[in-house]
Amino acid sequence: MSDALLRADLLRWYGKAKRDLPWRRNPTPYRVWVSEIMLQQTTVAAVTPKYESFLRRFPSLASLAASSEDEVLKLWAGLGYYSRARNLRRAALSIQDVHGGVFPSEFDAVLELPGVGRYTAGAILSIAFSKPYPLVDGNVIRVFSRLFGLKGRVKDPGFAQTLWPLAERLVPKSRPGDWNQALMELGATVCTPDSPSCGACPVSRHCVAFKKGLQDKLPLSETRREPVPVRWTCLWIEKNGKVLLWRRSDKERLLKNLWGLPEKGRVAAVPGRLLAKAAHSITHHALAVELRAAALDERAPLPPEARWAPRGEIRDYLVSSLWLKLL
Ligand code: SF4
Repeated sequence: MSDALLRADLLRWYGKAKRDLPWRRNPTPYRVWVSEIMLQQTTVAAVTPKYESFLRRFPSLASLAASSEDEVLKLWAGLGYYSRARNLRRAALSIQDVHGGVFPSEFDAVLELPGVGRYTAGAILSIAFSKPYPLVDGNVIRVFSRLFGLKGRVKDPGFAQTLWPLAERLVPKSRPGDWNQALMELGATVCTPDSPSCGACPVSRHCVAFKKGLQDKLPLSETRREPVPVRWTCLWIEKNGKVLLWRRSDKERLLKNLWGLPEKGRVAAVPGRLLAKAAHSITHHALAVELRAAALDERAPLPPEARWAPRGEIRDYLVSSLWLKLL
């Protein structure tokens, strides 16, 4: 089978079967970029409502560039990987400064934006600018592995690297954005990790794994990585209707640069009564967190990372869902 027939089959199916997702309506560079950053490491179901509220608050690049970091982080609450939100805002500022507020359309310029890698640059250029740049993400790796009978693991960067030339060969000059989205859509809805729906697959006649009965064996299964256990005791210190918060530094292993409740040992206070417990996962770390009431030793100076915030306002600061679970 030829590349041309494969493209025709997949594009025909995509035209009929694609999901109606908010970023697919009116795919401007700004809207595509925001959606691609949000969709890194996060599911479509989790992103959709956040995307809509983010776009309502920041409908344009200029509005995002004029925002404060805290406001962007607050809207990002619940999506995790907060460096993505910071990079979005930094990139918006950089587009204002370097490109006069106009989203760049050249690959190297897009790649230079904070938080944008080869995948995201390919997505923006193909979808928003109709330029024939390829992309390779987890869905594409799985589809290629099966379609072409290639042995490798989805999370192996070396395997992903070998697929870029194939993605480059296949991306068409016309409808490159539809092609890239069709590959990802096939991986998300038909060629799924477990039990792919080969009977309903628009490209089964091209598929090596299907012909050889290997669809459940490709890609190779991942080597399991055990999560790193982390235990925290955090302190609830309240006085005159205010709660003591702590800004975590960029040297922290987890939740860098975000406001949180102080951990035991960071301020002069002895943990007392247990108030709440929560289990939470952050990038291969399994946190077990206890929240304990504590009274501050007022004689000790307060570190600069600490700040009293009115009790009614602390949810504006505590954006990670870990804190929301504890509260
Ligand atoms: S035939 Fe099956 S394994 Fe092959 S691409 Fe389609 S869904 Fe995936």
